[in-house]
Amino acid sequence: MKRRLITSALPYVNNFPHLGNLIQVLSADAFARFCRLRGYETLYVCGTDEYGTATETRAAEEGITPRQLCDRYFAIHDGIYRWFNIAFDKFGRTSTPVQTEVTQDIFTKLDAAGFISEKAVEQLYCGQCSRFLADRFIRGLCPACESGDARGDQCESCGKLLDPTDLKNPRCSVCCSTPSIRTTSHLYINLPKIKNKLNEWITTASVQGFWANNAIQMTQAWIRDGLRERAITRDLKWGIPVPKPGYENKVFYVWFDAPIGYISITGCLGEQDWRKYVDYWWKSPDDVELFQFIGKDNIPFHTVIFPSSLLGSGDNWTMLHHMSSTEYLNYESGKFSKSRGIGVFGSDAMETGIPADVWRFYVFYNRPEKSDAVFTWKDFQEKVNGELIGNLGNLVNRTMSFITRFYKGRLPDASRTGGDPVLWETVRSFEKSITEKLERAELRDAFRCIFELTSYANKYFQDSEPWRLNKDDPPRAEAVIRDLAFIVRDIAVLIGPYLPATSAKIASFFGITPEKCTWQDIGKAEGINEEAAITSEVLFAKLEDDLVTALRERYSGIQKCRELASGTTEVDSTVAEKPCLLFEQALDLRVGHITTVERHPKADKLYVIEVQTGTVGTCEVRTIVSGLVDFYTEEQLLGKKIIIACNLKPAKLRGIESRGMLLAAGDKNGTGPDGQPADRCEVLDPGDSPIGTRLLPEDVTIDSVSQTTPDEIDINTFFSYPITVKDFTIQFNGKNLCLSGKPVRTGIIGEGKVS
Ligand SMILES: [Zn+2]
Ligand SMILES: [Zn+2]
Repeated sequence: MKRRLITSALPYVNNFPHLGNLIQVLSADAFARFCRLRGYETLYVCGTDEYGTATETRAAEEGITPRQLCDRYFAIHDGIYRWFNIAFDKFGRTSTPVQTEVTQDIFTKLDAAGFISEKAVEQLYCGQCSRFLADRFIRGLCPACESGDARGDQCESCGKLLDPTDLKNPRCSVCCSTPSIRTTSHLYINLPKIKNKLNEWITTASVQGFWANNAIQMTQAWIRDGLRERAITRDLKWGIPVPKPGYENKVFYVWFDAPIGYISITGCLGEQDWRKYVDYWWKSPDDVELFQFIGKDNIPFHTVIFPSSLLGSGDNWTMLHHMSSTEYLNYESGKFSKSRGIGVFGSDAMETGIPADVWRFYVFYNRPEKSDAVFTWKDFQEKVNGELIGNLGNLVNRTMSFITRFYKGRLPDASRTGGDPVLWETVRSFEKSITEKLERAELRDAFRCIFELTSYANKYFQDSEPWRLNKDDPPRAEAVIRDLAFIVRDIAVLIGPYLPATSAKIASFFGITPEKCTWQDIGKAEGINEEAAITSEVLFAKLEDDLVTALRERYSGIQKCRELASGTTEVDSTVAEKPCLLFEQALDLRVGHITTVERHPKADKLYVIEVQTGTVGTCEVRTIVSGLVDFYTEEQLLGKKIIIACNLKPAKLRGIESRGMLLAAGDKNGTGPDGQPADRCEVLDPGDSPIGTRLLPEDVTIDSVSQTTPDEIDINTFFSYPITVKDFTIQFNGKNLCLSGKPVRTGIIGEGKVS
């Protein structure tokens, strides 16, 4: 038997996994568990994909290092997968020294073999930041639709794919200054040159490895449309250094190094001797079969690009054997959205009180193998109550409780019967079919087949009427129950890959440990200790309507009462549009930078101010109108960093549209020219926090909020979240409001309100 190397797609470190993303780790887990139970020497590796732009910008936004950000997210991922009972042999990460070494080695060999080309390109350079700008770090006017906020690689308004140099009025999305065009060099992997080798490999591998249909089609389409040279270097800091003179300030593109993570994470099973593990699993193509579990969006990276890197390097790598690529799982009527609180995410599932095996059941039962699937609460409830409980649970429960009730917990004696041959012939044919499907990683079909088997056994129970036989023909009743008991034991084995905790529980009813429950045991009426006391317990609690309704509501994006219950908001619901949103879900308050200040042509007390703001990496310019004339001169404001409310509905103030509001503290402790008490006003000072940093309550981190911005709100909603100043510190609801974890303080106004 060949060894089996199993991987699931490496999750990007700062994305929270939702149910749809969990399909890959769960699928690979079930397959790996099956292989172990069948006696294959098996290794299942996965880990977080950590390098790249998204991590770098996010860390900048939070004022921490990319390493710190990754550490935090790695722990979140790790906790979720533990809860779901994923039996990785290694759950690692890509930001390790081994990853650097393996990636640089593959690159060096590709280069030596002539598969790397170098091209001079004209690229935008930011003098202020002293660096070349990666496409996503450039914003400007879209040449197609005139949107002022197009990104260097694509316009999000009209969808047009762009070259950064196409943009009119380009600006650096970090500092907003205007970049200039300079010539620089980048390295490319020459896929057309590897094409013949690749084609030859794909033709054989896709058939031998019975790839999923979508994998074959998408791969063929990629090759048919022509392979291009692809850039493998980028102007970033958070990545793997390029070991070539002249590339000291560049790193490898994350798509080039991410799949190499499978190899380096395997290496991380060892320490100094890590190469031993890499060789044993990844350089043994004759002895190892590689099974990869991914979503369909990842196919070309696993069937074209990664294999090209390996083939081109000239080393004798273990190549992809079976590709199991699933379609998407959607949520209710749309998509999962962390920022809008829509859908069940890994961390949510942990809080529902519903056991991991029940979630695992639903994911496998509806695994989107040939077309997209949808998670609905109604279907979840129906399938759990009907199939898991009504079918499988029922067979186990009625059989085991019959033994405890009528036979004092002892397995009926074998001497009475040799077992029902017709029954066992059918059971064995189910088991054969389940095993064959699992061997081909047809996880959903095999799983459904288990439920056909339990359904068949339930019918056998029903038709045999053991409760009647127990009176009329006791030996016959014993024979029926004994057969059914062994079928239940077989079920414990068969569901082992899918529902490990349930499998172990059923085994425990027979006094068997899970390790004694392997594939060799099934299909025969033996292998249970006849002396052991048999016990019984209900396996699952029914999903009641109340619970399902409450959970549907909770993850619908309305977020009602989720936080009211926790007492974190006190909001006047008659004023607020969405009274139940948390502060950070309702208000988008960010650091901005004033670039121009002018007097309003039609109003004495108003300034018209241009501000640079936006999330870090999406620097945008907006106009706001502000009533600061009595308190600040133009010179005092110009160039100042401020905090602005970014998601207010635009409002016209004397003919000029204001998009946002500058935040200032105020009190009545001033003295007017006439000696009377007067208003004072102090513009909030964000210190040296970068433009775009969000103002958040002290116990909220940016990753627990969202990457996208809250919906637009009206001014009444804004004021329904009263921000105050106490002891020279800005607060909401008794909690300090912070930028990158540091409280924002005032210098003049000690107690007051912010508006
Ligand atoms: Zn456009
Ligand atoms: Zn810049």
